[in-house]
This record gives sequence, structure tokens and C-alpha cells, in this order.
Amino acid sequence: MKSSLSVKITGLLSLLMLYSPVTFSMAEDSADHLCFAGGIAFGAVFTCLFAVYLNRHYHKKYQKKSKQLKQAKSDAQVTAQKMKALIKEQQDSQDLLEERVQERTLELNIALQELESANEELERKNVLDELTGLHNRRFYDQKILAEYRRSRRNLTALSLIIIDIDHFKSVNDNYGHLAGDQCLIWLAKYIKQSLKRSADKAFRYGGEEFCLILPNTDAEGAFQLAEQLREVITKQSFKFQEIEIALTISCGIATYQQQKDVGPEQIFAAADKALYQAKGDGRNQTKQHLFIE
Ligand code: GH3
Ligand code: MG
Ligand code: MG
Repeated sequence: MKSSLSVKITGLLSLLMLYSPVTFSMAEDSADHLCFAGGIAFGAVFTCLFAVYLNRHYHKKYQKKSKQLKQAKSDAQVTAQKMKALIKEQQDSQDLLEERVQERTLELNIALQELESANEELERKNVLDELTGLHNRRFYDQKILAEYRRSRRNLTALSLIIIDIDHFKSVNDNYGHLAGDQCLIWLAKYIKQSLKRSADKAFRYGGEEFCLILPNTDAEGAFQLAEQLREVITKQSFKFQEIEIALTISCGIATYQQQKDVGPEQIFAAADKALYQAKGDGRNQTKQHLFIE
């Protein structure tokens, strides 16, 4: 628009110059006047045509520029929209990634918990006897050594009781192996109940033999505990399919009090020897082995 205005002003100035009174006064006769008029007319036409040409030229130029500007604007808009879409896409994928990370973390935590409980279960199974729920032989081996060392360190007494069911074979023979198994479970319940301190531990050593590790317990204390258990078992009777089966147990005890050359194996052997004596003396009794210094 500005260029078109400047073209018009230029044209007008040219016309004014041609009509200038100074030029007109320079004419001497009518021929000169005619010539002058013709010159003016030609100049006017030429100026007009030139002005029109300039107008069209600059108008076209302006249109082209304005078109370019429009295009640039629309390009900028498209770019801005694309940028917006790109940012949204990026945000979406980031959200999705975060969601997936959270899901994976949750899954991992669950797997970890499952693994931990599986490990706990495995550890539990590792130290327990499946039938009776008492500690197993493997755990006995570890525990007797640990308690033996503690006893030596602290100069405290350590007692071991071995318990064996009397004539257990006849339970199996008369009522079947299942009855025998139930009988072991039944006895294990009373053995557990007989323990007085949390440090006392009960084990199924093997078959129908059980043992008790009693830390910080002298021979007298161990004898009392064994006798109490034996009496309970004598008074109770084991019931299998409504049949009452009378049972007795024999116990052998050994008490370690830092005697020379006595280790965990010797303690067990001594208690086993006492048990053998109890069996030999008629069963349903408790015998103690005394270490000779
Ligand atoms: P004693 O009075 O001399 O001890 O006689 P006993 O018949 O009990 O003889 P012994 O201790 O040698 O018998 C062990 C029997 O225990 C033999 C076996 O059939 C039985 N037994 C061992 N383990 C199991 C078990 O897990 N389940 C069952 N049902 N019986 C078992
Ligand atoms: Mg036996
Ligand atoms: Mg037996």
C-alpha cells in the first residue's frame, strides 16, 4: 500500500513540473503554445502510464511479499502445531514409561517377597522333621556343637536326654505303620510340652528315637524333666481309631560339665548307653550316665 502511494505522489509531482508556469512563460507564439500543450499532454499521458506501470509493479511485488508472509505464518503455525504434537507424544511416552517402570517394580517386589517366603519355607524345612514338626537330626548336629561350645565358654552344665518308645515295633505290627506314625506325632506333642525353657530344644533323632538338648541344666534338672515326661506318657494312652494303646518310654541322660576328653559325640554315646541300661533294666524308666573325671 505504501509503495502504491509513493508512485502516485511521484506521478503528481511530474505533472506539476510539466504545468509549471515558468515553462509556460517561455513560449513565444501560438505554435510554441501548441507544442507546449502537446508536450504537456504527452508528458501527462506518459506520467500516467508510468504511474500505472509503477503502481502495478509494486502492487504485484506487495502481493508476492504478502503471500510469502502468509505462507511463512501458516508454516510457522504448522511447525508450532507439530511441535505441540511432538511434545505431547513425548509426554505420553514418558508417562507410559513411568507406568511400566512402576509395574515392573511392583512385579519385582512381589517376586522378591515370594522368593523370601520360599527361602524361609526352605530354611524351616531344612531344620524340621516333617512327620512330627520337631527339629530334625541335621539341626541336632549343629545345635549340640553350638551348645557344647557355649557350655565350655560359660562353664555351665549341658544335659542331653535320649527318649525311645518301648516295644514300638509291636505298635506297627499290631495296628499298622500308620498307627505307628500317629503314635510318633502323639508323643512329639508331649515332648514339646515338656520343655520348660526357650533354650531347650527337642529333636526327632531318627525312627522312634527323640532327644532333648537342655542348655544350662544339671543332671538333677534333666532327670526331673525326663521323669515327668515318662510319667505323663505312662498315664496317657495313645488312641488310634478308637483303640486305646498303652505306651511307655525309656530315657537315657548324660550331663556335660566340662569333663576332660568329652565332646558332643561322647555326650550322645553316654546318653545312649544310659538308655540301653534303662531298656536292660526292664524299660519305662530313666537312667543317667556319669562321666568319670
Ligand atoms: P525297644 O523297647 O527295645 O525299643 O523295642 P522297639 O520295638 O521299640 O525296638 P526298636 O526301638 O529297635 O524299634 C524301632 C522300630 O520303630 C522299628 C521300626 O519299624 C519303627 N520305626 C522307626 N521309624 C518309624 C517311623 O517313622 N514310622 C513308624 N511307623 N515306625 C517306625
Ligand atoms: Mg529305637
Ligand atoms: Mg524302641
